[in-house]
Amino acid sequence: MSGSIGFIGIGNMGRPMAANLVRGGHAVIVYDVAPERARGFADEHQARAVSSLAELGRGAGTVITMLPTGRDVRAALLEMEGGALAKSLKAGSIVIDMSSSDPVGTRELGKELAARGVRLVDAPVSGGVVRAKDGSLAIMIGGDAETIEAVKPILGHMGKRLFEVGGLGNGHAMKCLNNFIAATQFAAAAEAMRVGKEFGLDPNVMFDVINASTGRSFASENLMKQEVISERFGTGFTVGLLAKDVKIAADLAEQIGVEAPIGRLTRDLFREASDTLGADQDHSSAVLAWNKRGKKRG
Ligand code: NAD
Repeated sequence: MSGSIGFIGIGNMGRPMAANLVRGGHAVIVYDVAPERARGFADEHQARAVSSLAELGRGAGTVITMLPTGRDVRAALLEMEGGALAKSLKAGSIVIDMSSSDPVGTRELGKELAARGVRLVDAPVSGGVVRAKDGSLAIMIGGDAETIEAVKPILGHMGKRLFEVGGLGNGHAMKCLNNFIAATQFAAAAEAMRVGKEFGLDPNVMFDVINASTGRSFASENLMKQEVISERFGTGFTVGLLAKDVKIAADLAEQIGVEAPIGRLTRDLFREASDTLGADQDHSSAVLAWNKRGKKRG
């Protein structure tokens, strides 16, 4: 693998991930639609900021996208600047989409890029901002075996556990299903807290008990006391992005004809929270929206 790495999307996750690539000794070129983010990154790290996707494409042998949605990834590659990025990439270049994108859209994008001689791998991540910073993300990789082998050394700077989960799109399917479970556990923990509190239980005591019992989950162990009860609401993962992930999972089930009632319910709950609070609010504050529902009487 030769040449610079182009990194698109210097947000909550992209910023620390790109920093780890620089630390790993790679020449990194960064771009963000908010140009001050790319410039700020280049000021702080040994990296080059560019103001156009065409420039990034000309300089990079490998491109990483860390954008909000698969729609944004498609736009960056094929639509913005008249599709300059895909046009400027040399045949044989590899695009690694590390965003949590829709797996069906990823397969379509893969076909369109392949027609231009560009290879696509999906490699979404889990672990949040904390593990993005220390380079210990879990990464779920989909694509053809040869391309995956070629990108593993790059991914190794950002993640500790690299899972190969099948062909293109499987990484994104895996990711939305993981986040569907995480979101469902969070919604259930928040609901249990609401009921318990109303009955007279102390929420802090509740989560001491739950964390020593079978109801424990990532949400109960890492979110309920630290982010919700403390009202810190500062995980760095927005409710809009989690609502998007749960929708991808529920829609995927519908697209392939699998009955998934919990997916539908969780999709509705997080859509409601995102609409009520605003998509840019922290996902742990979803409880504030659900609390507004008040009590059902009678
Ligand atoms: P973010 O909103 O903080 O960052 C996204 C960045 O992309 C922003 O800087 C934005 O300006 C930029 N951007 C948007 N559209 C663009 C475009 N077309 N071209 C160039 N730049 C563009 O989001 P994030 O929290 O870093 O999440 C990124 C992805 O990672 C999402 O798919 C999210 O679901 C996923 N994810 C997030 C977390 C988390 O804890 N935040 C954890 C795992 C996965």
